[in-house]
Amino acid sequence: MTEFKGTYFNGKTSQAYDVRVFFDGKFIRIRGDGGHPTLDVPLEDCVITPPLGKSRRWFRLPDGARCETDDLEAIQALEHSKGGNRAMRFIHFLESRWLIVASCLSALVLCVWAFTSYGIPFLAEHAANSIPSELTETVSRRTLEVLDGRFLSPSELGPERVSEIKELFRKLDNEIDSDFEYRLEFRKSPQIGANAFALPSGLILMTDELAELANNDKELVGIFVHERAHVEKRHGLRSMFQNAGVFLLISALVGDVASITSMAAALPTILVESGYSRKFESEADEAAGLYFIRKGWSTRPYQNILLRLSEGSVEHPMASVLSSHPETNERVKYLQALEESAAAKGEGQARNRGKAF
Ligand SMILES: [Zn+2]
Repeated sequence: MTEFKGTYFNGKTSQAYDVRVFFDGKFIRIRGDGGHPTLDVPLEDCVITPPLGKSRRWFRLPDGARCETDDLEAIQALEHSKGGNRAMRFIHFLESRWLIVASCLSALVLCVWAFTSYGIPFLAEHAANSIPSELTETVSRRTLEVLDGRFLSPSELGPERVSEIKELFRKLDNEIDSDFEYRLEFRKSPQIGANAFALPSGLILMTDELAELANNDKELVGIFVHERAHVEKRHGLRSMFQNAGVFLLISALVGDVASITSMAAALPTILVESGYSRKFESEADEAAGLYFIRKGWSTRPYQNILLRLSEGSVEHPMASVLSSHPETNERVKYLQALEESAAAKGEGQARNRGKAF
């Protein structure tokens, strides 16, 4: 037997009656002081209103009367007997426990943050490593078309200078093992000035303006090793997948080449405009710095060209080591620290002849 106090309204006047309510498992029996009111109603004919936080609850009787109570447990017992709406009870359970709701919201925010910060980059790396090389070629070729159409014009460098630089570039191929076939091409671009850009296939573009800006071969070697690192670590494809949206990322992960190919027209623009994250730039700088250290060179020439590029750089949407990086000073400090740390460990040409990457 459930018993609780309540307030009864007959639905015709605003008069409130203090009553006691008894429930025997089937009938609700309402008893007022002095015998008024006296009602016996089957529970199944009553409508129990949904809970709202911890506020007072009530149930409606078949004749339009209603009975209110503060005894929420008693009402829950009635609901239970009636086989009340479980979903509503669950919602009420959550509503009445704000700590659970707050925790769920925090967990949701945390999940979104973790997925964006770690999940997408992780999946993008996986996708970049698994797409077929023909597709990498296609994306790179079309990206070159986009760049040629938007920023670049044919090189005007003299043949002697071209062969000097190509020789520097070729030497790196002999020194550093790689699965990629690197090629170097030149373009003139007054619009973007001194710049270099690595395409995922291993094609590296450099502008005539960069060739003119370099004071010596080591400066260019620093740029080339940096750009090669972007290719080796697939930074271009990873940036592209990170920025292309979850749909494309999933297509790449499940090997749905048809979907990716159908979006191939959009990929070059995404690739050009994605840019590299600070982390990718640091990784490429580290590769260049370590190469210099292994050769027994100071990283100073590479630092110098970074600083000169930063001073003379212009705003442009291309992603490269040579873009206008506000953090150039930090990059230079990083290279200095790398060199000091190698010196402290006694590393150098004689001690370390490993791969650059
Ligand atoms: Zn870079």
